[in-house]
Amino acid sequence: MSVLPEILSANAAYAASFGDKGSLALPPARRFAVLTCMDARLDPARFAGLSEGDAHVVRNAGGRASDDAIRSLVISYKLLGTREWFVIHHTDCGMEFFTDAVMGDLLASSLETAELGPDGFRDVGTGPGSAEGRYRSWLTIADQTGSVVDDVVRIRTNPLVPGSIPIHGNIYDVRTGRLIEVPDATAAGAAR
Ligand SMILES: [Zn+2]
Repeated sequence: MSVLPEILSANAAYAASFGDKGSLALPPARRFAVLTCMDARLDPARFAGLSEGDAHVVRNAGGRASDDAIRSLVISYKLLGTREWFVIHHTDCGMEFFTDAVMGDLLASSLETAELGPDGFRDVGTGPGSAEGRYRSWLTIADQTGSVVDDVVRIRTNPLVPGSIPIHGNIYDVRTGRLIEVPDATAAGAAR
């Protein structure tokens, strides 16, 4: 059972009330970019008050400053003029519940979806798996605020990122919907 029919139906309703959004400019009108987690509970458009055309939102597992996230941010500034960036991780992130070694083992035993129990993820699927998962970094999170600081510092110190861009660090609380600042991250990301 695919969700495709539901998506097409929702899209038809959206397009029917699309209004004048077809004339939006390509560069983000409010000139900022957000890097955050793909977690389904996070809706940056709602928690940060965004409308179509306002801002860039870069998402991946954990909201980590991966090479590819930095690629997007550099394009966001260099070609599309954003002037301020936000790194937003969150409480109860799935990336806290495993390590590279665990992910390697899970994938080596089965490619099917694992189960998250009180002691972390465990395999319930059948094999074969693949050892390929042992050859990459999954950018897991061992320390919630530490990972925000690490990611802001990694972006701040990238030679392609100009010092004029302030980079803020925040944690989104999935129980309250609130953004909590990580002062050490924001300090590390201050414009210079
Ligand atoms: Zn997450």
